[in-house]
Amino acid sequence: MCDNNLSAVLYKKREEYPQCDIVMENRPINEPGEDDVLLQMHSVGICGSDVSYWVKGRIGDFVVKDPMIIGHEAAGRVVKCGKNVKHLKPGDRVAIEPGYPLRQDEFSKNGRYNLSKVFFCATPPDHGNLQRFYTHKADYCFKLPDNVSYEEGALIEPLSVGIHACRRAQVTLGHNVLVCGAGPIGLVSLLVAKSMGASKVVITDLFESRLEMAKSLGADFVHKIEKGQTPEETAKKVIEMLGDMPERTIECTGAEAAIQTGIYATKSGGCLLLVGLGPEMINVPLVNAAVREVDIRGVFRYCNTYPAAIQMLSAGKVNVKPLVTHRFPLEETEEAFKVMRSGQGIKVMLKCDPNDQNP
Ligand code: NAD
Repeated sequence: MCDNNLSAVLYKKREEYPQCDIVMENRPINEPGEDDVLLQMHSVGICGSDVSYWVKGRIGDFVVKDPMIIGHEAAGRVVKCGKNVKHLKPGDRVAIEPGYPLRQDEFSKNGRYNLSKVFFCATPPDHGNLQRFYTHKADYCFKLPDNVSYEEGALIEPLSVGIHACRRAQVTLGHNVLVCGAGPIGLVSLLVAKSMGASKVVITDLFESRLEMAKSLGADFVHKIEKGQTPEETAKKVIEMLGDMPERTIECTGAEAAIQTGIYATKSGGCLLLVGLGPEMINVPLVNAAVREVDIRGVFRYCNTYPAAIQMLSAGKVNVKPLVTHRFPLEETEEAFKVMRSGQGIKVMLKCDPNDQNP
């Protein structure tokens, strides 16, 4: 076992671009508290939000003020357990759910702990886990079956967003579904919608390469948005392709035009899920949604998804492996972030165990 704790830390710069530096530094290995486990980290995916903290130093009101370890899509191996931990033992491979509630408030009590005040890895001021060793609440570490790889375990984080969105959309047998945006979140929404029984899924994007990936993952139809195309025109194309209006739209871009498309396209009595997070203020054809009883629902991260995700992966109901397009050793974190920022590929994985860089 290696004995250093190389960690990827964002340091705030002043008035420069990118707004933060990624510094690789050796951090102390923490002893696990009585409800915690110490983990040797294996695979950590980079998310768009990690890149935003690096490039802009903030997402909305969350600002990188103090040095912060980055990374939250992660899986690793248990090295040591706190004295109260009974469900895990050293050697267990686990997926790490990065967010947990800090209080037993009303949301936590009714099961919607994503709406509570939470600790969340790599959301300032909370540290993430892109390092060799990391301690986490054991109750939010989920043992992986032998047939689920570490990388699949790390991908449970974005997959969870798709599961939560499709659960909130109540996607079911026979539904036609529109997914706006073929980034990692749109793609996992596609996979989950299909596995929940959607008959036909159409997915839109601005880029052909992303739509090719969507097609290879099982999208029935893809549609490339052309410059100058209006949201009404896009909705019309979607309806033509499906032969009907979609009962559900899962919006995964945050772009005003795509949200407008979602309203125009969704069948009366259907549901539009807002997963994408864009500008604070957006113009939408609200009366169109109101008079056709198109429900508009928010999605914030997820809750209670990890056990279901592990079952789905283990049973082969979803295949997230093709999402990983690039791999880098932990030492090359900055290179990996540059690839992610350039928009090449879909999911970039960092490999934290110098003795095991396998998927
Ligand atoms: P991404 O940037 O990789 O993908 C977004 C895709 O949308 C891109 O491929 C882009 O080309 C495409 N796009 C942009 N404008 C479009 C338009 N008008 N029509 C169709 N496609 C368009 O991002 P991602 O990692 O896939 O995340 C998607 C969104 O989900 C982001 O806004 C992110 O902040 C948000 N997100 C929300 C939650 C949540 O809890 N609600 C969680 C994770 C991510």
